[in-house]
Amino acid sequence: MIYFDYTATTKPKDDLVKLHQKITNEYWYNTESLYALGVKGNNLLQKSVNVICDTLKVNHKKVLFTSGATEANNTAIYGVCHPYFSNPKQIITTVFEHASVLKVFKDLEKRGFKVTYLRYDDHGNLDLNALAKALTNETILVSIMWINNITGAVFPIKEIINIVKKYPRCKLHVDAVQGFGKIVPDFAFNDLDLITLSGHKLNGLKGTGALIYNERINLCFMQGGHQQNGIRPGTVDLAGAVVMAKAINLASVDIQEKYLNVCQKYEYLVNALKNELYLILNINKHQSPYILSITFKQIKGETVLHFLENSGIIVGTGSACNSKAKEQENTLIYTLKDQNLPINTIRISLSDETTFEELDLLITKIKEIGTK
Ligand code: PMP
Repeated sequence: MIYFDYTATTKPKDDLVKLHQKITNEYWYNTESLYALGVKGNNLLQKSVNVICDTLKVNHKKVLFTSGATEANNTAIYGVCHPYFSNPKQIITTVFEHASVLKVFKDLEKRGFKVTYLRYDDHGNLDLNALAKALTNETILVSIMWINNITGAVFPIKEIINIVKKYPRCKLHVDAVQGFGKIVPDFAFNDLDLITLSGHKLNGLKGTGALIYNERINLCFMQGGHQQNGIRPGTVDLAGAVVMAKAINLASVDIQEKYLNVCQKYEYLVNALKNELYLILNINKHQSPYILSITFKQIKGETVLHFLENSGIIVGTGSACNSKAKEQENTLIYTLKDQNLPINTIRISLSDETTFEELDLLITKIKEIGTK
């Protein structure tokens, strides 16, 4: 099987699976207990927080271990907005966000929050003028992803930090799921108020994620015990937390080497497909080489997916979370500027382990179905 769906999920590293089992077996005690075995577990939890903060080079931040990025995004946005439910304020995001951000914003809009959705400007850049214009002293949150999971568009987080920081009341949340471990950031994680990461996109385990947030933010909206600073009450999944920290740490090694390696493969793929008249390559002005979104003018993405699958090749359609949903993917509607073409799209995602032989087979098969 040849795998080109790393954006959806990745295979857990054997060492991380082993580590999970070890912690599960040896540290199964309640991390909140006062006896030594509980305290030992709690120390390990604190160590995992420190590993994440050191890896991201952040200080004055807390780490909330979650079940994944969906929960981290929900917690970040509802957490910041919850105190304003009776006095809704302005919040800003983009039309390109993952459903775990976009749907929360839609819900908050129904609750009376004034939402601004950013799009591309006429030059194909995220419209930062619209961001600057929309921001006021009443804006409480800007939530923008680093890299789009459908097309690989890279959003200008550094510029966004500079714009948002003029409004001290406004918190900046970044869904960094598709950027962390793949691209060396040109910004400091410490300049963000809230950062979302997902374990299973980093060769970690499903059901693990993290929200790294400014210690001054009071996110509390779930009620229960005082575990995880009271934000996610309930007995802590220590093994998940330890493995999440390790996955983050391992993903932070050799990012640039892997990036350059993947760039070569991305260029090879793009060069092979760019003149095929039955295809549209959804390449953005600022593009991650880890993702190539292609639209067939005449064939449904699902048909292409199964055709490739019959040759042992796995690709994605739209986004992992929406591939079975009836609605068309927002990002593709705005990228293709068309309501019908998004359904004809497949997403090819690459890793540094992708080989040129694998790419050759993929290219041959795409040409075969495209010219049938
Ligand atoms: N944000 C982005 C950008 C994603 O790509 C995904 C996964 N498709 C998520 C959030 C949700 O991640 P998880 O599966 O960990 O909930």
